[in-house]
Amino acid sequence: MSGKLVGAEYIWRNGEVVRWEDATVHVLSTAVQFGTSMFEGIRCCDTPNGPCVFRLGAHIERLFHSCRIYRMEPAYSRQEIIDACLTTVERNGLKDCYIRPMVLRGYGAAGLDPADSPIETYVAAWPWGAYLGEDALENGVDVCVSSWNRPAPNTFPVQAKAAGHYNNAQLIKMEAVANGYAEGLVLSTEGRLSEGGGQNVFLVRGGALVTPQLDGSLLRGVTRDAVITMAADLGLEVQERPVPREDLYTADEVFFTGTATEVTPIRSVDRITVGEGKAGPVTKTVQRHFMAVSKGEEEDLHGWLTPVR
Ligand code: PMP
Repeated sequence: MSGKLVGAEYIWRNGEVVRWEDATVHVLSTAVQFGTSMFEGIRCCDTPNGPCVFRLGAHIERLFHSCRIYRMEPAYSRQEIIDACLTTVERNGLKDCYIRPMVLRGYGAAGLDPADSPIETYVAAWPWGAYLGEDALENGVDVCVSSWNRPAPNTFPVQAKAAGHYNNAQLIKMEAVANGYAEGLVLSTEGRLSEGGGQNVFLVRGGALVTPQLDGSLLRGVTRDAVITMAADLGLEVQERPVPREDLYTADEVFFTGTATEVTPIRSVDRITVGEGKAGPVTKTVQRHFMAVSKGEEEDLHGWLTPVR
């Protein structure tokens, strides 16, 4: 992550609003010992109609899917967690911010059967700017293909956004940064393009958008889905298909999508320049449209914005 975590004042914990510094878990919680925490990352933008959360329902749906995969039953309904997200933003007086709901297994079980660990729910929020930097949004980033792969299907269920999976993402990010890149692109164990360490990826070829299909190696990104929907609105063709690694080097344009990353152009892969080495025209169109909808500057055709108040 770029930058230090700067706290807000309050965190929602199991139905109560507690002070930021009091939202602690025991060091022997199952989540700490084994990474059993399902989470989301959601953006709230200050719009002309006040702060609005982008695709809140879709994120909470994915949170429930992550819990289902890991046999966890949250103690709160979808609507209660949606309300908790809105309360957390409001109580902290935040406008542009990032919201982090978490459903985790707490303290109780000693071993791998987590039945004795209670399932706890937290929602935090804090101000957070462009994940790869403002300059990245404008001029693009240099990335590498990671030496690490995504887990093979039937090892880790990558459709679940589970904390433990992010050890793989951290290896990718740390290796990329150590070698002077902003982020890594990851291949599946079959050697095809999967996604970024913490983002989905799109290529532009002959005016069409191309993105790896959901083959069990990548997360079903909410931003990915938004870009696919917007592409249809813009009359752009989208292909979800297997993508060979080398297509990265010959694409006209490449860009990342993600809640934290937003729509970020990629200007080189493995030091091979992508296109003109700057944000291409299709990337710019998609980025402009995405930002305008998120910020309430363009009509919300798909009901993606939830006002905080
Ligand atoms: N892939 C991974 C591994 C991620 O962590 C993220 C960020 N949640 C994404 C893709 C993008 O997903 P979204 O657009 O829902 O933020």
